[in-house]
Amino acid sequence: MPPDPRDRPDACPGAVDVHQAADGGLARIRVPGGTVSAARVDVLRSAAIELGDGFLELTSRANVQIRGLAPGAEHELGARLAEAGLLPSMTHERVRNIVAAPLEDNQALVDAIDAALCADPALASLPGRFLVTVGGAVSGLSGDVGLVGDALFLAGRDSGLRVTDPVDAVVTAARLFQEIRGDAWRLSEVDGGVRKITTALGDPGDVRIEPGVTPVAPGAHGDVFVAGVPLGRWDARLLAGVPVRITPWRSLVVPSGSDTRCLFTSPDSPWHGVSACTGSPGCAKSLADVRSDASRWIDARTAPGRVHWSGCARRCGRPAGDVVEFVATGDGYEEIR
Ligand code: SF4
Repeated sequence: MPPDPRDRPDACPGAVDVHQAADGGLARIRVPGGTVSAARVDVLRSAAIELGDGFLELTSRANVQIRGLAPGAEHELGARLAEAGLLPSMTHERVRNIVAAPLEDNQALVDAIDAALCADPALASLPGRFLVTVGGAVSGLSGDVGLVGDALFLAGRDSGLRVTDPVDAVVTAARLFQEIRGDAWRLSEVDGGVRKITTALGDPGDVRIEPGVTPVAPGAHGDVFVAGVPLGRWDARLLAGVPVRITPWRSLVVPSGSDTRCLFTSPDSPWHGVSACTGSPGCAKSLADVRSDASRWIDARTAPGRVHWSGCARRCGRPAGDVVEFVATGDGYEEIR
């Protein structure tokens, strides 16, 4: 894959600053911590049905996308989101990327970090790719800044620093990254970046916590239920009036007893572990309708494991780790193991 050109700002879409895809406008709505109240779920559902293509797409950062917007529809979408409190900052909306461990009680901390990031004008120009992680289960998702208890993570690893004010530590690290980043979009791209921030913040200890990624499996988890969303496409007619927490693994934490029709509810489901890029008709570069092809393949699936489908050699959204890939060639698919 060719490197991203750095002679322009990153092109991450926002809720109002939409990306023009082959199937219309694409809006990405940040929901820090993945938590969405029932009332806001209904605002998103209605917007997807009335302004978009009828689906809410879940991203690997536990955000939501609405695609298929007609020209100008982003203004109506922005007005609806603002009224619902889903657009608290027009200046910072693309930098509110905070992924949290979905089964931990950390939303108050996430909200405090979000508010502090949005309150600092200097952070409005952070790259849209900047990511904060909160909690051990997501500490290995390559956040630029992260928290696991009082441990401060930088560029996806434990810095050795232990903090007493986690909100201040995250915002201070974000400011320092902004000062040293040049044209870099991620802290890991800055030569000596972690060392510069660590040096500015204090003396790191010797103990290091290993970063981890602990996906939550579909099924019951105490008094909540995790429902998988096939290929990350949530049919917006579903889950009316249900509060959700979106996970970075394209699933939804919902109250036990919620109606989970058309979602998958067991790790034994053939949908479990299968992902796909946008493909046709949403991506102009695609050589195939990968979602339709993946859906047909799932009907006959025989073995478990992680599988990713891509519409071209860019292989967008390929998960890290052990994964079987099907990459469209224009004349079928190449299987990569
Ligand atoms: S992998 Fe190719 S087809 Fe799929 S979203 Fe990326 S650019 Fe488009």
